Amino acid sequence: MLRLLIAVDGSEHARNAIDAAARLGREGEVEAVLVHIREGHTYHGDLTPRDYERIAEQALAQQSQVLEGALAHALKAGLARVETLGEEGTPDVDIPRIATLRAADMIVMGTRGLAAVSALLLGSTAQRVVHNATVPVLLVK
Ligand code: ATP
Ligand code: MG
Repeated sequence: MLRLLIAVDGSEHARNAIDAAARLGREGEVEAVLVHIREGHTYHGDLTPRDYERIAEQALAQQSQVLEGALAHALKAGLARVETLGEEGTPDVDIPRIATLRAADMIVMGTRGLAAVSALLLGSTAQRVVHNATVPVLLVK
């Protein structure tokens, strides 16, 4: 059994990563966790506690949407043993941390994400995850 941690952010690149993971093994031979990290941003200016609450609610709703989309995509791609995990934190720190915690054999992710500047070879999250990870990282172009 190959245990994969697939990092998703709702981008086409992350969907390509899911497809590549599905091709790694036949049904039943791959177990995958789809993980999304929502980043807590710092806001300046006059925000009321109610504003913060709304921002947090929106971020949670967005995370659910990303994970539900990724799950549907993964099942369609042929990954049968798949679960989702949403956390708050810093993607490049928490993706490698969760991979170790979940005893993943490999991290699978896109080379780029939602920012998708075509000139960019590698996004900053991808770059930092490779730096921080203690397991192999499959970067899907
Ligand atoms: P940047 O964010 O540096 O402006 P980018 O968005 O194009 O550039 P990355 O963020 O490095 O590129 O995205 C590369 C891959 O990292 C994505 O395809 C996805 O697999 C993963 N990823 C990015 N952000 C997250 C996140 N918040 N949670 C989980 N995985 C993520
Ligand atoms: Mg990004």
